[in-house]
Amino acid sequence: MITLKGKSVNKGIAQGKVVYFKRTGYTVRHSLVTNLDSELSRLNIALKVTGGELESLYAKALSELGREDAEIFRAYQTVLRDEVFITDIRRMIETDHVNAEYAVQEVTGRYAGMFSEMQDEIFKSKDQDLYEVADRVIRVLNNTKGEMLKLTEESIVIADDLTPGELINLDKDKLIGIVLYEGSPHSHVAIISRTLNIPAVIGVENAAALSHHSDDEEDTAIVDGYEGRIYINPTDEVKRQIELKTDTIEVEQLKLNSLKGLPNETINGRRVEIYANIGSLEELGQAVENDAHGIGLFRTEFVFLNRNVYPSEEEQFEIYKAAAERMEGRVCVIRTLDVGSDKHVRYLGFRNEANPAMGYRAVRISLMEPVMFKAQVKAILRASHYGNVAFMVPLVISVEEVKRVKKIIEECKTELKSAGLPFDEKCLFGVMIETPAAALISDRLAKEVDFFSIGTNDLTQYTLAIDRESNILDEFLDTHHEAVMKLIEITVKNAKEAGIQTGICGELASDLSLTTEFVKMGVDAFSVYPSMVLPLRSKIRGINV
Ligand code: PEP
Ligand code: MG
Repeated sequence: MITLKGKSVNKGIAQGKVVYFKRTGYTVRHSLVTNLDSELSRLNIALKVTGGELESLYAKALSELGREDAEIFRAYQTVLRDEVFITDIRRMIETDHVNAEYAVQEVTGRYAGMFSEMQDEIFKSKDQDLYEVADRVIRVLNNTKGEMLKLTEESIVIADDLTPGELINLDKDKLIGIVLYEGSPHSHVAIISRTLNIPAVIGVENAAALSHHSDDEEDTAIVDGYEGRIYINPTDEVKRQIELKTDTIEVEQLKLNSLKGLPNETINGRRVEIYANIGSLEELGQAVENDAHGIGLFRTEFVFLNRNVYPSEEEQFEIYKAAAERMEGRVCVIRTLDVGSDKHVRYLGFRNEANPAMGYRAVRISLMEPVMFKAQVKAILRASHYGNVAFMVPLVISVEEVKRVKKIIEECKTELKSAGLPFDEKCLFGVMIETPAAALISDRLAKEVDFFSIGTNDLTQYTLAIDRESNILDEFLDTHHEAVMKLIEITVKNAKEAGIQTGICGELASDLSLTTEFVKMGVDAFSVYPSMVLPLRSKIRGINV
């Protein structure tokens, strides 16, 4: 038995046959061409063929994964259509008289180099998209098809890395586990594994231990997505332990399922709400399935990311309306656009900020881009006609900002009325408390809004001055820091005095070791990942507060 350890990106346990996947490589030759026209037309044909491949991958991803994950393939298509990038490749063929595959490789390397020098993670990761597209074009040019991994029975795939294209081409009924030597928790593959709910472990630390195994077809493995462990050819003892663990998890799940339909009520009768956080329409199903009493945070970013222009009012309206209808009268809190910092959209331009987390982001962008903001506000208002919709605005720091947002909402209402488009006049309006500034003036903010929702991820980042994206500061990060807890307490107290409700929608809402304290403070609602709704309900029903 060989035991490997990595980072779990999706929980669950998989047990079965192992399929090792190694991509067939190729070398790009450098040759001089004399017939430039024929070389350029080779390139054009390869671009067309690749475009067709990406189109069908997009369609497949759309039907199997849903809109959000399918956007990955749209991003690839955008690379392929990028005039500047393609013109540079053509120009290199024309001026240096080189073969097309060499030009594609060279120009891609140059562009990817530019991206990887950028400080920003999102831009850095763009070079992966470039390489994926270039690899496809080169394979068409030199006629080396990427190896198609085919699964004939239920299998755990072990590979250095998998591209989203390779993953989407697999038979999902047969793919039961993913183990990658490389990869990051934010990679496309990690996201897709969560969407498909396949146990996945990436960044395996001691992958070398397995190197001599790669030709052995007979290996079996257990992937423990709870612990981030992989057991190759497990011993009977490990199999027995995993079986016990699976049984315990199943029993736990059954217990949790029996809580569906029951109130979120403490032993001595205090009721709170438990809502779900979602980042796409696909997750609505999980929210309903886990009996969330509503959506407490609908992150609308996914509608805005990976596009060349921002989504129109109409396009947004259809999405928000679908969410409102799906929740059938339960609340659906739609957060207005929260991009900037770690999430970039190219149509807003790239600002080379020294401290992007403290820069052009969230409500600041909305106020600086009123035309775009109004399209979103109107879409949300119009969706409110079809369900119980509420607004929520991220990252506010002043009463002034809140007043400006409210003024824009009023303008939008007037415009919708004159256009004869229906909306709910009583659509609630809340703000996120995710800066120390907002928490400290929550007494004044409370007079302006219908509810607060505390974004503890950002509140922690800004209170402790620790970048939430950093992975080297763990020793300084105390997620239960008394300063953060004090700010939450101040916020809840001020909200109570003003007669409005406070929810928590950051990660701390899922931290069951804090639930009792939060309920004691008077927190009215928790908004958590759909899979945390029932564990949190179980916790609340067991406390005496
Ligand atoms: C938060 O900051 O806690 C939050 C819920 O918002 P996001 O994680 O989307 O920034
Ligand atoms: Mg936030």
